Amino acid sequence: MCGIFAYTGTKGKDASKVLLDGLLALEYRGYDSAGIYTPESGAVKTPGAVRELRKKIPADFKGKSGIAHLRWATHGEPTEVNAHPHSGGGDIWLVHNGIIENFQELKDMLMEKGHEFKSGTDTEVLAHLVEEKMNEVRPSFAKASEGKKSSVDQGLDGLFERAVLAALQEVHGTYGLAVQYKKEPSKLIAARMGSPIVLGIGDGEHFIASDPSPIVPHSKKVVFLEDGEMAVITPEMHTIYKLDSTQVGREITEIDWSAEEAQKGGYEHFMLKEIMEEPDAVRNSLRGRLLEDGSVRLKGLESVEDKLKNVKRIIIVACGTAFYAGQVAEYMFEEYAGIPVSVEIASEFRYKKPVIESGTLVIAISQSGETLDTLEAMREGKRRGALTIGIVNTVGSTIARETDAGIYNHVGPEISVASTKAFVSQLAVLALLAMHMGRQRGMKDETFASIAKELKLIPEKMEKILASTGAVKALAKKYAYARDFLYIGRTYNFPVAYEGAIKLKELSYIHAEGCGAGEMKHGPIAMIDRQFPTFAIALKDSVYEKMCSNIQEIRARKGPVIALGTDGDSLLAKIADDALYVPKTLDMLSPLLSVVPLQLFAYYFAAAKGYNVDRPRNLAKSVTVE
Ligand code: GLU
Repeated sequence: MCGIFAYTGTKGKDASKVLLDGLLALEYRGYDSAGIYTPESGAVKTPGAVRELRKKIPADFKGKSGIAHLRWATHGEPTEVNAHPHSGGGDIWLVHNGIIENFQELKDMLMEKGHEFKSGTDTEVLAHLVEEKMNEVRPSFAKASEGKKSSVDQGLDGLFERAVLAALQEVHGTYGLAVQYKKEPSKLIAARMGSPIVLGIGDGEHFIASDPSPIVPHSKKVVFLEDGEMAVITPEMHTIYKLDSTQVGREITEIDWSAEEAQKGGYEHFMLKEIMEEPDAVRNSLRGRLLEDGSVRLKGLESVEDKLKNVKRIIIVACGTAFYAGQVAEYMFEEYAGIPVSVEIASEFRYKKPVIESGTLVIAISQSGETLDTLEAMREGKRRGALTIGIVNTVGSTIARETDAGIYNHVGPEISVASTKAFVSQLAVLALLAMHMGRQRGMKDETFASIAKELKLIPEKMEKILASTGAVKALAKKYAYARDFLYIGRTYNFPVAYEGAIKLKELSYIHAEGCGAGEMKHGPIAMIDRQFPTFAIALKDSVYEKMCSNIQEIRARKGPVIALGTDGDSLLAKIADDALYVPKTLDMLSPLLSVVPLQLFAYYFAAAKGYNVDRPRNLAKSVTVE
């Protein structure tokens, strides 16, 4: 999530200029507020864009080092006081990307010790925790020597280093961090757990950033931190430690990326980068939510817990890809929670004078939380007396604010217009909700445990798919001639067929349509000929044999077929023209895996034609019009 940039140098550069230019290079990541701190001039923060921040910075603002941030709110709305950097009430200032999961316990403990909090963020708790550790560690330091040693040769024995290390040892969750101590202004500490951090190594200057893009204009030499590592930098040097205090040797990487390539993490497009981030997206959506005691913790639903127990019917409202996530959820809720579900296209639902009985739950799914049709459909449900919850990625967005309760995806900004990582996260979150509501309605321990176990394995299985994309790329090339494509699937993979088709049409501008495999013979099969290929999702699940028959029906009409099967299947390669495979999982969770090759296929198909994959023509990322 979002962007960090920090600088320390002896080259006489104005840190505020270096930092603001760096924030501009990070802007592409998407954010809602910005801020900067230098020990000489203090902090300036603002909701909104970097240009607003620039306007607010006084002419006499100075500094040779400092920290800066683009925030993408997770805890607390995007306001000035919630923007980073945050102070611990003394001389510690920090910027943070990620989520401190045990922030509430830490906050209670710190408040008891007299700390006063200004913001609603989890981050401010971390700043106070470091400050508290400074107070604890300080007595063992001779006052006179404090602040004098600013080189890293004191290892982790320095007051500042020890305090940060001690604080990090008490924190659970994800972080990318840059911390500064006013009394040792040229030294900065970075740390990483789950959110990326890279160090920039210059001549007489060092940097900390979320990705190399703000570093590249100054230096091509970078060092990537790994999870569980902390680094101390000064203008002259950098040292890396593990959180158990051992020192780590790490080679410097010379990157030859331009700033633009650096933003895409070395990938050609954001879409491919975001597909590659899917394992982490699912991890982030699950983090802290599946408890060992066999329950699901969804904090955002606590206020409506009792009402959820009385829900008798669910209506899901959404548009586009989020609508297909909703359709997968229909199968999940009906099978595992025994609740009847209808999934409605938001733009239709809002005008159709729907019947809402008491005990109806309306779930609105929207990555941006601003999709106008979904918002209005949710409002219509609310007006008619339904309980409303949102599944939204953007904290503080309109749907998040107006629903009775909600669940955030926590996958960070999605830049590519075509949704990929947000979709798999929506599926993961909906699975959690189905488990939760199933549990309220008597789901057995064994059933819960088997879903939980498989859900936790999904990121690894996705990584396996993503480790060998060559076969998908080759197929995209082989079928590049196609002007039409049919996608078929059944049950849990019926909506995935539609999602595969929408991806191909939005990126490649060719005709592609999804279809329930059983429905094919009631119309779409008439289109099939040698030039009209079909993508068939035929996993080893409860409808495998039916899918194999449907593949035969297409082959009998000379239609080329790409089958997507389960690892170890030996039949598909014989009955289809081409086959791709994904690892086995529960039927309910299989869309989280089956959609990945379909996304990659659409990506490679369009990229090979030279289309603007990240910004397809005629489409917008956040559809705030009717
Ligand atoms: N959880 C932090 C906040 O809401 C950091 C968000 C971010 O990664 O930008 O302030």
